Amino acid sequence: MKEPKERPLLDLASLLTINPQTAQIRLGDSRMVLMHTEALSYLRKEILETLGLERGKGLLIRMGYASGRRDAELVKREHKDLLEQMPDEAFWLGPQLHMLEGVTRVEKVKLEVNRATGHFYSELLWEGSWEGEAPYNEALSREEGGCWVQLGYASGYTSTFMDRLILYKETECQRRLDPVCRIIGKPAEEWNDSEYLKYFEPDSVINDLLTLQEEVSTLRETLSGRSQGNLIGQSPAFHEVFALLSAAADSHITVLLTGETGVGKEVFARWLHEHGPRADQPFVAVNCAAIPHELIESELFGVEKGAYTGAQQSRAGRFERAHGGTLFLDEIGDLPPSAQVKLLRVLQNGEVERLGSMESRKINVRLIAATNVNLDQAIRQNQFRADLY
Ligand SMILES: [Zn+2]
Repeated sequence: MKEPKERPLLDLASLLTINPQTAQIRLGDSRMVLMHTEALSYLRKEILETLGLERGKGLLIRMGYASGRRDAELVKREHKDLLEQMPDEAFWLGPQLHMLEGVTRVEKVKLEVNRATGHFYSELLWEGSWEGEAPYNEALSREEGGCWVQLGYASGYTSTFMDRLILYKETECQRRLDPVCRIIGKPAEEWNDSEYLKYFEPDSVINDLLTLQEEVSTLRETLSGRSQGNLIGQSPAFHEVFALLSAAADSHITVLLTGETGVGKEVFARWLHEHGPRADQPFVAVNCAAIPHELIESELFGVEKGAYTGAQQSRAGRFERAHGGTLFLDEIGDLPPSAQVKLLRVLQNGEVERLGSMESRKINVRLIAATNVNLDQAIRQNQFRADLY
């Protein structure tokens, strides 16, 4: 039995079913759980402490976003008529769901909804919200509030409702001891704040960890003396090589080092990097012979989540991680043919595409390659591409 349109709140409450026998609480077709706000506050605190304010904030916003999106889908499905005839009323079901879910009391200050033109503006007050009252553990600037799960919810709900990205910010917040929270919502472009958008995009810590891991291993090697920062040699041949290296260090040209294993090609590569204009940027070394052929492309060019079984995380390849700096490809003669084709494209276009992605990323990398294989011979035997050479 449907409630009349002017009483949508009651209609919403009827969507909520609680069945202790089957341990199912449902809001429409969404399974819900009743949780102690103490537990949520604890989770919130630990997220901010573990990931830091910036990353933690993004994660909380995206968590709320997922929840808001779900509620907008419910409203759009259950109240099609209202959506067409009275979009303001239909929109208001979102704040009412937020209240029904026990998150916060919402009061309207201003609301302009036009689904046809895409125009949207809202100013709302949150009173006594759980997040506003959660114990404080973050330092907030005067300009921003801190009810991030709720802000995410409002953005997720409104964006799904309006079919365009609508972002909210808090201009007053209980978390910085204002009496209520005041939120403003408008289309993303109208905020003119591209920095804010980053909180809405998934952000993986794994890339930063890999870059740090790379730096640590480079530093360890340097400290252990395996790759001394200076080169020592007496022979005339050495001086000749050294003169060539010194000339190459200042330029951006690609350098190919050839020679037997064990003559310290990586030492030369590192020296070139450290004495060139990119010395402050990353030096990333890859031994192509040490990486299995089926993994080499994802190592070099990166991979998008789901590109193949086992790619559970999007991650940057060595090219991206060397951006701005130097990429040293040791044993390049061992690169399988398909990877050679891709490498050639990267060198020609200055762009790299992760596996499973159509998006090209601009890459500025100085390449130093080394090999102990006789490449002339490899080319003759069709094992190495002449154009790459
Ligand atoms: Zn707040």
